[in-house]
Amino acid sequence: MTSQVFLSVVAPCFDEAAGLQEFYRRVSAACCALPGLHSRWELVLVNDGSRDSTLEIMHRLAFDDPHVVAINLARNYGHQVALTAGLQHCRGERILILDADLQDPPELLADMMQMMDEQDADVVYGQRRARAGETRLKLTTAALFYRLLRRLVEIDIPLDTGDFRLMSRRTLDVLNKMPERDRFIRGLVSWIGLRQVPLLYDREPRFAGSSGYPFLKMARFALDAVTSFSVVPLRFASLAGLITGTMGLLSLSYTVGGWLFGAVVTGWTSIATLVLIIGGVQLVMLGVIGEYLGRLYMEAKHRPLFVVDSIVCAPARGSSRVRALEPNPNYAEPVV
Ligand code: UDP
Ligand code: MG
Repeated sequence: MTSQVFLSVVAPCFDEAAGLQEFYRRVSAACCALPGLHSRWELVLVNDGSRDSTLEIMHRLAFDDPHVVAINLARNYGHQVALTAGLQHCRGERILILDADLQDPPELLADMMQMMDEQDADVVYGQRRARAGETRLKLTTAALFYRLLRRLVEIDIPLDTGDFRLMSRRTLDVLNKMPERDRFIRGLVSWIGLRQVPLLYDREPRFAGSSGYPFLKMARFALDAVTSFSVVPLRFASLAGLITGTMGLLSLSYTVGGWLFGAVVTGWTSIATLVLIIGGVQLVMLGVIGEYLGRLYMEAKHRPLFVVDSIVCAPARGSSRVRALEPNPNYAEPVV
């Protein structure tokens, strides 16, 4: 079955009802326009516990067009896990990751395919030249974050990239073998290596709906990125200890010197300040250790990353509805 599909387009969807039809229209137009692809493509839509009619629209699309596969997750697991679910189920030789909100234009598929062929690349990733329709807060935090991340991690995660990328099957096979729960997929793909080339593009505003990434979720995502790829923050404890220790020694020599020469240092303000600073640094470092420890704890449970409620695709494929409670890459063969 795998050889039948050459291109898989994978899109996680959370409350995307308003724009999903248009998304499908543009993706299928882009795929149909590709010479040589013929009908060998699929669009894998993953419903990540949407509260609107996303799932119904996905089902309608899947019944009307045999190219569409609609995967329904058992609840909302978040963007990266929903994307992982789609990536584990898709069957193409090449895989395009796309957000369902049309911020990344599907029409770039043709350029990406061409670059992959011509430059013999395993990954063609979209690199943002401009981002329309984003808040100043998002732009500033994203710019700061990607630059900070580059300093903290040892692998080369390119600046200003999202998950929008075309990958080869062998790259995806490696990615799918990475079992970690806190998934920062763009970083994991960079970690793999192989030949990865950028395609510069302008990011568009959302076609409809609103971002599923409020500030707190974004902050958590940033923490996942740092802790997944770097233990540098853990070393801050030693650095902070070194700095405060040196400050303590300097302060001690100052006090002893004052006592020797008759100028006794008075007042408790300085002591109180020092105690607060040291206490603060210690608590922050405990928090940092807690971040890593918490992630270790969650990893140690070895729970499945996600639960699939149902997979719907056109009857022409041999199955109209499959139920699976485990990630099940064999949805072409019905379980029920
Ligand atoms: N998304 C998801 N689960 C979530 C949040 C978002 O599957 O909990 C999907 C969403 O439908 C979209 C993609 O992930 O296709 C990117 O999300 P969004 O556009 O909200 O993020 P932003 O582009 O604002 O960073
Ligand atoms: Mg978006």
